[in-house]
Amino acid sequence: MAPPSFCECEVPVCTEKSNPCGTRSFEWGLPRGISSPGCKGKEEPALTIEGGCHCGAVRYEIEGEANHVAVCHCTDCRRCAGAMGVAWAGFPIANLSLSGDTAVYASSPGVERRFCLICGTGLFYINADAPGQVDVQVATLDEPECLPPVRHVQMADAADWEKTFHQLPMHDRYPAQD
Ligand SMILES: [Zn+2]
Ligand SMILES: [Zn+2]
Repeated sequence: MAPPSFCECEVPVCTEKSNPCGTRSFEWGLPRGISSPGCKGKEEPALTIEGGCHCGAVRYEIEGEANHVAVCHCTDCRRCAGAMGVAWAGFPIANLSLSGDTAVYASSPGVERRFCLICGTGLFYINADAPGQVDVQVATLDEPECLPPVRHVQMADAADWEKTFHQLPMHDRYPAQD
């Protein structure tokens, strides 16, 4: 598969008809329903995206378009997730439906981070400053490759070594198994 190219609005667009998510067909690189305001004429019918926590107690569905997809490196995301970066996709909260119990941690005033009550998987972010909006942790999607991030944000908080992550040796499993 060819690497994604970028249109003016920085949304990755495949250069060939491909099917990176296996079960869905694509006219172009993004899943149907995922479009950006800058990509007029490329919108596709709405798609339902599914995901859930590690233990399976929480499952969710989201319909429609993501309005942003980014990897956040802020200190709050790092500590709350126990990870160096968190990929988020934003949606209208009305498009989200879920089953199972979530718990809430207010990481700062007006902010709700919701996670599975049983296994602790981080799932959702809701900020009173962005009413009607929910951010979903892309890593909890059944097919996270369907929502490719288009930028890193809050790099001011990132550890220096995150900036050269991509230069490290990569192994399919572990070095001894190569
Ligand atoms: Zn769980
Ligand atoms: Zn963050």
